[in-house]
Amino acid sequence: MNRTITFVSLGPGEPELITVKGLKTLQQADQIFCPATLTPSGKQVSRAANILRALEIEEHKIRPFVLPMSKDRQKAIEAYDQLLVDAANSLHEGKKVVIVAEGDAGFYTSIQYIYHQLEKEHIEVKRVPGIPAFIAAGATGGLHIVKQEERLLVIPGTATADELDQFIRQGYNLVIMKLSACIEAVHECIRRHPETHFHYFENVGTEKEKYISDPEIIAQTNFPYFSLLIIQA
Ligand code: SAH
Repeated sequence: MNRTITFVSLGPGEPELITVKGLKTLQQADQIFCPATLTPSGKQVSRAANILRALEIEEHKIRPFVLPMSKDRQKAIEAYDQLLVDAANSLHEGKKVVIVAEGDAGFYTSIQYIYHQLEKEHIEVKRVPGIPAFIAAGATGGLHIVKQEERLLVIPGTATADELDQFIRQGYNLVIMKLSACIEAVHECIRRHPETHFHYFENVGTEKEKYISDPEIIAQTNFPYFSLLIIQA
């Protein structure tokens, strides 16, 4: 009896940026749970499902689960608890169950909650690693994100302009994830540091990909959810 649920990392968005192991795991799966969101008009959208379709995974295997985007953590937990029940049921029916996440499935992913819940229920979990968005962004921009003795600090979008100041003065190279949460702080930081290099990325690996390195333009850009910033001294 199969007792393992596998978490597969899909990579940053470009379907070919999944690993060979990740693709094989998807091909062999019976059921693939993938995150989706609802647009204000109630339409279900899932970048993860689109990656699966581009990889020619059969439609009947794909089971989207809707994640509420609100800040109310309780709603998300309810969605995860439902996923937990559905995934465990499929497993008990003898199916090979996979749960997918974009980028790397162990890097700032909300599904870490379900991973730990499954462990608590003594369901074995495995994870197939993948390319995180910031690594793909480095390739898109032709950057060497850190070289020689340089240090990298990866932070979420909770930073203030003063904190960014401090990190830059301490000599770190920075990756800011979830950039939409700190638009003002970043705009301010750009004004304060004319000598620093800023690399802005949006929707890396998709047809909507954008890369901007002109600080004046970045300082006027309104960052969407799928955006990140790399700062180099
Ligand atoms: N597990 C993902 C990170 C998820 S957190 C990974 O390994 O990359 C969500 C944040 O990741 C977004 O707010 C954004 O900052 C970043 N992100 C994810 N995909 C992206 C993409 N294609 N382009 C730019 N940023 C992306």
